[in-house]
Amino acid sequence: MKEGAEPVMSVMEIAKSKETDKKFKCTSCKDAAFDTNAEFRTHFKTDWHNFNLKRKIDKKESVTEDEFLDQLLDEEIAPKKR
Ligand SMILES: [Zn+2]
Repeated sequence: MKEGAEPVMSVMEIAKSKETDKKFKCTSCKDAAFDTNAEFRTHFKTDWHNFNLKRKIDKKESVTEDEFLDQLLDEEIAPKKR
């Protein structure tokens, strides 16, 4: 419990609430929202989306696009773990 706590919106929170205004949302991908049907359809062909579909099958949490790109970079640095 905090006294006199006022809701302070950070820049990130504003950006997030903007995203939720978008009409098209991908239920498989975290933070995936699009303004147009064309963008939405294009999204289904992206590696990011396919990556999340596989994660869903593995019962793992979906990742945001940034997290996906981070993972890609990690794999490029260490392509083979075994
Ligand atoms: Zn998706």
